[in-house]
Amino acid sequence: MPHTGSCLCGAARFSFDHPVSETGACHCGMCRKWSGGIVLSVQVPGDALKVTAHDTIKIHTSSKWGERAFCGKCGSGLWYRLTAPGPQHGMHYINMGTLDDTDGITLTHELFIDAKPAGYALEGDHTRITGAEFFAMIEAETGPKYPE
Ligand SMILES: [Zn+2]
Ligand SMILES: [Zn+2]
Repeated sequence: MPHTGSCLCGAARFSFDHPVSETGACHCGMCRKWSGGIVLSVQVPGDALKVTAHDTIKIHTSSKWGERAFCGKCGSGLWYRLTAPGPQHGMHYINMGTLDDTDGITLTHELFIDAKPAGYALEGDHTRITGAEFFAMIEAETGPKYPE
């Protein structure tokens, strides 16, 4: 059965027929400002996402390598989409909080752990990598000088 999701007001809706079992948290400054908190997201390839109600969806180009979709009516952050070239090009990182059903999705990693505010932490034994480690991983996949 496909996953479905929406913004808070319901004007923006989407679905995807793609299995997701893992979520990752991102503590980077952009994710915090964009979401107002911690971003937890699930990876869905671009061709798997079907936007079923898009009239209120706005796109914010947040960097040279990605853009963020949100509902222009209620403000919910919906997804981050990787726009830079490379093997992950077009990947959507859909905010887990927008999904109607989150059963079976487990936290497997935290990104930008060095940017996490000291006053809270996510428990559990999972991968935690710094911003520098994250960029080094991406550069190993896509070649040097990315992202800038
Ligand atoms: Zn909305
Ligand atoms: Zn982030």
